[in-house]
Amino acid sequence: MKPKVAFYWCASCGGCEEAVLDLAEEVLNIVAAVDIVFWPVALDFKEKDVAAMEDSSISISFVNGAVRTTHQLEMARLLRRKSKLVVAFGVCAQLGGIPGLSNLTTASDTLREVYGAADHPQSEFREDGRTLTLPKLFDSVFALDRTIPVDYYIPGCPPSPKIVADAFQVLLGGELPEPGTVLAPDRAMCDECPRRDTHPQELKLDRFHRVQERVLDPEICILAQGVPCLGPATRTGCGSRCISGNMPCTGCFGPTSRMRDYGGKALCSIASVIDVSDEAGIDRVFEGIVDPVGTFYRYSLPSSFLERKRPE
Ligand code: SF4
Ligand code: SF4
Repeated sequence: MKPKVAFYWCASCGGCEEAVLDLAEEVLNIVAAVDIVFWPVALDFKEKDVAAMEDSSISISFVNGAVRTTHQLEMARLLRRKSKLVVAFGVCAQLGGIPGLSNLTTASDTLREVYGAADHPQSEFREDGRTLTLPKLFDSVFALDRTIPVDYYIPGCPPSPKIVADAFQVLLGGELPEPGTVLAPDRAMCDECPRRDTHPQELKLDRFHRVQERVLDPEICILAQGVPCLGPATRTGCGSRCISGNMPCTGCFGPTSRMRDYGGKALCSIASVIDVSDEAGIDRVFEGIVDPVGTFYRYSLPSSFLERKRPE
């Protein structure tokens, strides 16, 4: 009997589903090795098919996206009940991801901003004796493990093909790592960065630049060129795709196991190279980091110590 595998998406952009297809021909080996029993984006199984399965009959459920709606919470709980292992696939499921930035506001403010005051979607609508319902948005976005127990994590936005292939190999290979393991190397991005030899031991900066304001030297450490790069705080395993594209690391692989709060560590790593002592200098530094939450907590706000912006 092949292991039964499910894929599901919650609050997701679809990039993590693409990441499975990014395996190219490797995906054929995986499809041959498993029995896919649920994958709404690709196969026509329904929620009721999952509900009819015996508990713990799915070997592994890979869930991407954060938990944002009542229906996503129901699906997470259903898949948890039906699965031996649940894997948070991608940083939205792992830490809350980009959707988690809406924890800076409330669900009703978000809907009002997008749809206007009068006619934003209601969770229930009646017409001609029929009732249509929509899932409700929670005020907060949650990382998957804030809603159900999660066994393993695959980081990245989206996870790189090598990380995905290695994770499948480990999870289907029979010898499972410690529960709670993040399936990527437990080292900082700077350790494997192709520019690490140009990262000065002593770095002192008195201002930062947004990446679009600079023509970056493709050989030199991006942080040394005055553009915030979160490589010192971020787990490696992405294959340096952003750095190779001459863009700074924005932290999508999240923290190593030694960090308790990714955003706090990222903030410290940038603050530690600032060398100003007067107020004008501090203002100048902030001018280069116009969106501190979006810079340091871009992928991890819901799973951080802060979790969300508190009401006034
Ligand atoms: S981790 Fe990135 S690619 Fe995956 S669903 Fe979230 S935003 Fe999309
Ligand atoms: S700060 Fe960024 S560019 Fe510099 S070595 Fe680290 S990851 Fe590479």
